[in-house]
Amino acid sequence: MRIAIVGSGVSGLVCAHLLRSHHDVTLFEADERAGGHAHTVTTQIDGVTHAIDTGFIVYNERNYPILTRLFAELGVVTRPSEMSFAMADDEHDIEWCGSSLRAIFAQGRNLVRPPFWRMLVDIVRFNRSARLVLKEPENFGYTLEEFLARDHYSKEFIEWYLVPMGAAIWSADPLEFLRFPAAAFIRFFDNHGLLGVRNRPQWRTVVGGSVQYVNAITKSLGAGLRLATPVISLARLSDGVAVRTAEATEAFDHVIIATHSDQALALLESPTSAEREILSAMKYRSNDATLHTDERMMPRRERARASWNWRRRDVSAPTLTYDLTRLEGLSASRRVYLTLNECDAVDPDHVLASMTYWHPVFDSSAMSAQRRHAEISGRDAISYVGAYWGYGFHEDGARSAVEVCRSLGAVIPEGVA
Ligand SMILES: Cc1cc2nc3c(=O)[nH]c(=O)nc-3n(C[C@H](O)[C@H](O)[C@H](O)COP(=O)(O)OP(=O)(O)OC[C@H]3O[C@@H](n4cnc5c(N)ncnc54)[C@H](O)[C@@H]3O)c2cc1C
Repeated sequence: MRIAIVGSGVSGLVCAHLLRSHHDVTLFEADERAGGHAHTVTTQIDGVTHAIDTGFIVYNERNYPILTRLFAELGVVTRPSEMSFAMADDEHDIEWCGSSLRAIFAQGRNLVRPPFWRMLVDIVRFNRSARLVLKEPENFGYTLEEFLARDHYSKEFIEWYLVPMGAAIWSADPLEFLRFPAAAFIRFFDNHGLLGVRNRPQWRTVVGGSVQYVNAITKSLGAGLRLATPVISLARLSDGVAVRTAEATEAFDHVIIATHSDQALALLESPTSAEREILSAMKYRSNDATLHTDERMMPRRERARASWNWRRRDVSAPTLTYDLTRLEGLSASRRVYLTLNECDAVDPDHVLASMTYWHPVFDSSAMSAQRRHAEISGRDAISYVGAYWGYGFHEDGARSAVEVCRSLGAVIPEGVA
């Protein structure tokens, strides 16, 4: 079959990798580089060149079996990463980091602060009782906000722990995050060992940046990779799909759309009512991201700093600053950070690169729409893949690709999915 894949993020790349030996594959990418959110920026710091990941940064072997297997197959070298989380709220003058007892009480005042102890007690209670939700029937319909109100969790637990952590993981707006379905959130936390201090997975990062695996896949595609070639529209034919770009309109037997859900819908010349309903229920929101070396974006106390730092500076939106030196084991002469939101607060003299990324929004309607994947995917020669069909992470993109490729006759290595 002649297959077109639209979008070269992890979802499109895994499709291309699995299908290239069974079919004639063409991978269309709007950007001048492949990878989508697998985005390694090459930059100079004090005259030395560094390759730094700014989108996809970390994975672990327990929760990412497909990616782990892919990296092994491609010979991609990885290294352990250091994962820790810190929270700072300048308005309430509070800073703490979960990495050790010393870091929890990095700010001595926390020892004698009743609201801080209330938060700690609630963390222990939540870790014990949240798992009970996993025994509830599938249709346990509470949002996180409703669940927290039902079980009388303290304001401090919500504002100084759960919201910063959850909103950071999903780069979500705090209010948006509270509208997450409670059961899905708790299942994710449990799977990732976040309901306790033991049994946490070892996170890893790609040595030399995720561009290493992106290049390993794209080099085998040869002329089948079309960079800087945005697909403008897709029209169904009686025996395939017409793919229109600025240069030409070409007929393919099958098209896999590996863009975001809103982009996918916009590509369809005549979407079915199911495609319109399902794809429009899964929304995206944008986050500005700045790669920089400005220490001031970090918590003030050295001991209260982590690899992920959530900080509310004033009434404006909270920022999330990743310490990439810690996460990626960088050897640059200065520490390198990536800050999401409030990018104007970063000293322009310290800025290395600026990007805008889009994240899926997981509310109840998005999660209901995910369950309807089979209603639109593989129908009339068009299939859908993307991290938005799962929790929004790299493994979700890879898993959606494996499922679609299996239905198109690809041989999937045993134990992958
Ligand atoms: C700052 C940040 C940090 C992250 N960190 C992690 C992490 O550490 N671990 C993790 O697992 N996940 C992380 N993620 C989540 C990440 O988004 C997903 O893991 C995943 O990379 C998304 O892949 P995707 O294939 O669904 O979409 P994308 O990677 O966004 O790919 C979609 C592609 O489609 C292309 N495209 C769109 N329209 C067209 C068109 N008309 N024609 C042709 N091409 C088109 C786009 O240019 C893009 O290349 C992070 C995300 C961000 C933004």
